[in-house]
Order: sequence, then structure tokens, then C-alpha cells
Amino acid sequence: MPKYALPELGYAHDALEPHVKKEILELHHGKHHAAYVTNANVMLDKLEEARAKADFASIPHLERALAFNVAGHVLHSIFWKNMQSGGGGEPTGALADQIKADFGSFESFKKQMNAAASTVFGSGWAALVWEPVLGRLITTQIYDHQSNFTVGGTPVMVMDAWEHAWYLQYQNRKGEFFDALWNVWNWNDISARLEAAKKTTTLLPGAAG
Ligand code: MN
Repeated sequence: MPKYALPELGYAHDALEPHVKKEILELHHGKHHAAYVTNANVMLDKLEEARAKADFASIPHLERALAFNVAGHVLHSIFWKNMQSGGGGEPTGALADQIKADFGSFESFKKQMNAAASTVFGSGWAALVWEPVLGRLITTQIYDHQSNFTVGGTPVMVMDAWEHAWYLQYQNRKGEFFDALWNVWNWNDISARLEAAKKTTTLLPGAAG
């Protein structure tokens, strides 16, 4: 059976300094993300065991844990690729045009993403999502890794708002972490994700396409 696997970070642990400290990336990728991968696989094994025994009493717990860990794996995998050493600035081309069409301006979009990230209650994420029903970008505030997500949407850019993403470096100043991320965005990666996501518009017959 196929298994979830921890992807390579794609750059050195210190590549995003001074905006994201080496020690944070070591723990965040090597421990936190790795644990979501491990536990996603554990949940699939436990579901297989439950089926074998026809014992479905644990389904609510297992389904929640599976969604939590798979979504944690997916969001972190996107987050690492969304960033690069020497990134930041503003996007160009089709991504820039789409942001302007859907948010009015890059500055408004940046404020909306930062607000979504900094006001997540408890643990969660802010995401820039391609919404295929209307064919536009929206922002989404995700609780934990899996709740409050817009079904059918594809995240193309994510901001980790969990404490483990920033506390070692920014302590009580998490807003500074979200500001700092704008110095490392890999707009080429985000643009490529948007172009791929646009092709999903036709996958929702009845709702879109
Ligand atoms: Mn995280």
C-alpha cells in the first residue's frame, strides 16, 4: 500500500534566515511535519485493522485524526515550496493580474492574508485558495489543519499560524513573523500552483464547469 512520505525541504535549514531561524525550520520540518506524516500512515493502518475486525466504533476518532494529519502533511508540503531564499517582492504576470482582479490590489491582498493569519483562534493557517466555482482567488482561515476549509478549493499559498512556526524566534510578536514571510515568498511556485489549480474548475460538475 502506498504511504505518505516526508518531502525534502528543498533548501538548507538556514536558507530563510534572518526571517525564519534555522532552529525553527529544523524542528518544524524534521519533527512537526514528520509527525503528521507518521500519524497519517498510522491512521490508515488503524482503519485497516478496524475493517478487518468489523469494529467501526472508533471511526469518528480515526476519521478526524486522518483528516488532521493528512491535511497537516499537505499544508506543510505546500508551505516549504511556497518559500525560498531571496524571495519576496511582488508577483508578476497572471498571478499578479488575478490578485488585482480579486482583491483590488497587492497591498489589500497582503493585508487580508496577514489578518487571516494573525486572527486564527488557537492553531491554524491562512491560505490563498483557488475557488473553482466562481473561478477566483479567495482567502481561507483554516482551523487546526483541516477545519473551516472551502470544499473544492485548492490552496496555492499558505501561512502557518501555529505557535511552533514562530514562537522560538518571535515569542509574543507573531505579527512580525507574518510580516517577515513576505520577504521569502517564492512567487514562481505560487504562480505554478495557481495555473495548475485553474485546471480543476471543470472537476465540479453541478457546481462549476
Ligand atoms: Mn506547522
